[in-house]
Amino acid sequence: MISVGKPVMTNSGEITKAVFSIKNGVTNETHDLIYEFEREYEEHFTEDRADGVLVSMLHWLAVNHYDVRLEQPVSEHLYYQIIEHLLPAWDSKIKIHCKTTNVYYPPGKHVATGMSCGVDSITTHHLHHASPPPYRLSMLTFFGAGAIWGSWSRQTELFKEELANSKRFAEAVGVPLFVVNSNMDAIFDEKHLVSHTFRNCGVVLLFQKMFHVYFYSSTVPFELFSVDINGDAGHYELFTLPLLSLPNIKFFSSGASLSRIEKTRRIKDSELAQKFLNVCVYSSHNCGDCFKCIRTLATLDSMDRLDEFSEVFDIEKYRKKRAKVIGTHILLGKFRPDFADFAHEIYIDLKSNKKIPASSYMWAFLRLVVSPFRWW
Ligand SMILES: [Zn+2]
Repeated sequence: MISVGKPVMTNSGEITKAVFSIKNGVTNETHDLIYEFEREYEEHFTEDRADGVLVSMLHWLAVNHYDVRLEQPVSEHLYYQIIEHLLPAWDSKIKIHCKTTNVYYPPGKHVATGMSCGVDSITTHHLHHASPPPYRLSMLTFFGAGAIWGSWSRQTELFKEELANSKRFAEAVGVPLFVVNSNMDAIFDEKHLVSHTFRNCGVVLLFQKMFHVYFYSSTVPFELFSVDINGDAGHYELFTLPLLSLPNIKFFSSGASLSRIEKTRRIKDSELAQKFLNVCVYSSHNCGDCFKCIRTLATLDSMDRLDEFSEVFDIEKYRKKRAKVIGTHILLGKFRPDFADFAHEIYIDLKSNKKIPASSYMWAFLRLVVSPFRWW
């Protein structure tokens, strides 16, 4: 059994900390689950209910077969959806012990989305910055919920650097950036990939008084829909997000109807994308070498937009290894489309745009002969 206490709020200068005590009756460990945010947002924190903390930890609870007892009540609507739909879809038998409440907050004033400055979040901004008012973005968010890989010191450093880029983006588009940092990744010891929807939506629900719509940027097109508790949570967001919605706040998936190529096509002429795009898994400055940088460069190459993105990528460095990069996409696209996300569609796009040089075919052939089992 996991026991979750009431949040304890403390202030230090302009920063507020909300701390939940998490007691694990199985391992006899106790952790402080911390959410840190700017003091001006304290009035929007939902101290009197457990919706946010429950959703943040829900996937971890289900995977580990932990029952949970919450001191604070949970919104009745959310409790029903979790018990009746989400847990059965995961084939989970965990029990949630809590009071429920049918009193909902009034809808908040903001329409928001997370802004990491990757292809998905910039596409969401592109799609909704000028929508009709009920759906027009009025706030961006940046949550430290475990998306950054590596050691704690690396996470802390990268968090600051990526946050700085997102702040510049928010300033450029003239909306506030709401920032929450949490240590949940250190407590809920599971991959971010399998739990990101719940971790991030949990943070939104902690501050549900502030929003009436929250767009969750899709990373997976809807034709790849599948519910698997051990798989990428992005594969079943179209199922999850309505379940986590309440009468006062609606979560919507954004961009699920678009492939990666289509998303890139939407933002290839965006000055914001050309100035702020940051896809790298290793650095707040696109390294040009990791799989995310490579696939983005190959896609921009296919669309004849390399030079336009010279502010965020080292284009000359890419051009020196272009034959190899495109050759790799030939190999992956033709023989191992399952090995790397989006390789097949990038290969098809490069081919249809006649952007594959003979040297890339030569490189792919030689690679296949020399090391037939090495793909990347
Ligand atoms: Zn990179």
